[in-house]
Amino acid sequence: YTGKTDTEELNNQLQKLTVKHYQSIAVVVSESDSVYDAICTMFLEDVGTLFVVDKQGYLAGVLSRKDLLRASLGRQDTEAIPVSIIMTRMPNITICKKEDLVVYAATKLIERQIDALPVVKDAGGEKYEVVGRITKTNITKVLVDLANNQLF
Ligand code: ADP
Repeated sequence: YTGKTDTEELNNQLQKLTVKHYQSIAVVVSESDSVYDAICTMFLEDVGTLFVVDKQGYLAGVLSRKDLLRASLGRQDTEAIPVSIIMTRMPNITICKKEDLVVYAATKLIERQIDALPVVKDAGGEKYEVVGRITKTNITKVLVDLANNQLF
């Protein structure tokens, strides 16, 4: 008998779960796309957060549901507004890496009161490639897997 309490054992399990085990595919739009295009992509791809990439394909911004709602309230010309003027932009984006603990990502989501983090790969020179997405839904899956004794 190891003398470990149930919570210690659970804690040990959680220290093994990394973002790569629970991440989803990232949906990205480009900086020059319009608010209209982004809204269409959000519906078609069925996601709540879009990541914006620059011409070289590196992370440039984040668009939430409310960012797009705010930008389109009371106007008809959403095709004329590029997402680059309304997105939350780098370097103010909270990111994570695929090797980070799921608990680290969850802590960031709570601290910053946001729904999703881009999973990135460092490309050097403060540039990041978007390789995935981790959301509150992915975090909820940890709880469900735990209940079903199917933790990764
Ligand atoms: P909503 O705005 O639909 O409630 P969020 O709570 O995720 O969705 O987003 C709140 C604000 O934080 C938005 O302006 C959004 O652009 C920004 N945001 C979302 N995700 C991130 C992130 N990973 N890093 C920095 N800012 C973010």
